[in-house]
Amino acid sequence: MTSDCQHNVPGIDKRHGPLTVLPLLRDPDRYVRSHIDPASDPESLEYWIGLFKGQIVSILEHAVETDGDGADVRRRAEAVRAEVEAFLDSLRDDPQQYGPLDLLLIDHHRDGILRRHGFHDPHRAVKARENAAALALLPEVIAALDALEGERRLEALVRGVFAGNVFDLGVTESIERFRDRGADFFITRDELPPRPWLVDDFNRFAARWADGPYRKAVLLVDNAGADVVLGMVPFARELLQRGSHVVISANTLPTLNDITHAEMVDLMGRIAALDPLLDAAWGDGRLELVPSGNAYPLIDLRHISPELAAASKATDLFVLEGMGRAVETNFHARLSCDCVKLAMIKDRGVAASLGGQTYDVVLRYDVADAQ
Ligand code: MG
Repeated sequence: MTSDCQHNVPGIDKRHGPLTVLPLLRDPDRYVRSHIDPASDPESLEYWIGLFKGQIVSILEHAVETDGDGADVRRRAEAVRAEVEAFLDSLRDDPQQYGPLDLLLIDHHRDGILRRHGFHDPHRAVKARENAAALALLPEVIAALDALEGERRLEALVRGVFAGNVFDLGVTESIERFRDRGADFFITRDELPPRPWLVDDFNRFAARWADGPYRKAVLLVDNAGADVVLGMVPFARELLQRGSHVVISANTLPTLNDITHAEMVDLMGRIAALDPLLDAAWGDGRLELVPSGNAYPLIDLRHISPELAAASKATDLFVLEGMGRAVETNFHARLSCDCVKLAMIKDRGVAASLGGQTYDVVLRYDVADAQ
């Protein structure tokens, strides 16, 4: 099916191939991919314009690191900055000029402009660096989790996901924090807000968890580095250890510091060398890696890859991880299986949409929606 959000969007890269609707999505015709309207009032629109203007500066710094600091790169980077700024400024006059404005539409335009100017993966260098740093910590993180039991173990897994999710080079506050002290997983985990969290369905999820394993879990992962390596991989490992079949799905194309499917395959090879359980599960097919079809930090569940659609069959747990996939889009999405949405909120505009503050965390647990 064609993507409504791709109409009139310059430079959209079609290399992700044909896309389809997530079969688990209840009532796709009434699906609203985002509850955040950046143009709800002039003050809000100014906030988001300023945020995306700051973000492109950071993206281009990483692009220069990845592609090398030559005259051609500098020229292309300056062209991107000017074009992105002009696009953002044009939203003041007519926010709906490309259709209903949401954050995913802005991402489409920004990444389209980057790709047209030859920047296909600006964060490649920092992603590789962060993956290597996180891998070195993985055995310690796994050993500490394995020493815990029951609900404490589940809470530690969830807190690991929150802490890993702080490494997000798409948002200004996280970029500044990262600059100051690196993505320190252990410090972040220790400093997480106490429960109850901003959205806190942990007790209901823990009760279901205690009832027995899920048959099959699909995990939509977010960022490279500590996020996937120290947060989501241990969560996947725990599901496998309990007997679930696990599908890890990452973006097909690069965007920001999100991990791609190709990087995930490479990373799992290195993780398997460190962990016999994950090695065995990957070897016998209980752990699958599939590309999501997505090319953005947010995801429209009506536009996923046929591989992810096929892998979602017989799934009874769907996990959306990260602020972009679980809050900026899909916070109110209803699925026909149990769904967990896990995120650390690193942006005050997104936090405000839920009545919270920056660095609040979200665990939303919706049981299978039969309607
Ligand atoms: Mg991300």
